[in-house]
Amino acid sequence: MSDTKSPLWFAFREDQLLVLDGEQAMVPEAVSLEDLGLSTGFEREIGTLDGRQCFAVDLPPNMEPLEGAVFRDLRGLWSVDEAFFSMAGRAKQIVEWHRTHRFCGRDGTETVPGPTELAKQCPLCGLVFYPRLSPAVIVLVRRGDEVLLARSPGFPPGMYSVLAGFVEPGESIEETIMREISEEVGVEVGNIGYFGSQPWPFPNSLMIGFVADHAGGELKVDPEEIEDAGWYSVDNLPELPPKVSIARRMIEEFVAGHRGDPMTLKTIETPE
Ligand SMILES: [Zn+2]
Repeated sequence: MSDTKSPLWFAFREDQLLVLDGEQAMVPEAVSLEDLGLSTGFEREIGTLDGRQCFAVDLPPNMEPLEGAVFRDLRGLWSVDEAFFSMAGRAKQIVEWHRTHRFCGRDGTETVPGPTELAKQCPLCGLVFYPRLSPAVIVLVRRGDEVLLARSPGFPPGMYSVLAGFVEPGESIEETIMREISEEVGVEVGNIGYFGSQPWPFPNSLMIGFVADHAGGELKVDPEEIEDAGWYSVDNLPELPPKVSIARRMIEEFVAGHRGDPMTLKTIETPE
């Protein structure tokens, strides 16, 4: 017996995903891209979702949506399930990698397919280009039954979240945690535990989540990065990030912890 389920096509026009018009976010399915009536310069198999093959597709910027479909920003698809969101995020990052690595950064020669599926290579100097990932820490700082939440200038109105920042070259994740929190809000933290991680395709972050205890210092925000920050009790929280985000999951587990269901964390060593 053959599997009759057709592949799913995660097709991007610039930053927007082609989804079927409807309540539930779903991408088009078809045996081939030609069957969908789409033409493209790039398609790549990226894994399976519910037993179906999935492909990432780069569409031209002037492409009109198919009948019965619309282009949507991934950020507008918060209500989708996690497996769909992460496959869409994987597709987005692979399409973006294809678009931004057409030429060698060292000598400008056009790249060709590289030694592995997710690699491009310069035929002149041999340099290999893999999709870029930017690791970032995201840290829930707690003080008794209060959590430290802050607003970045780019956030939707009223929304607060836990602190986050990119890992810099030469830095350990532990050092990033101490530096970011000290730079952004001027406090010290200790008793750091690992929470979990989440790929975040805006554009290519890997969010690595931690929980830490406030260990000293008063809040003093860096106005370049933070618009406002404060300690919020579990009974008085502001508007939070969307459900699909690790930030939201961390805050919800912290709140649940104060209702008798403690967070499970792995403790790490703090650098001197
Ligand atoms: Zn080169």
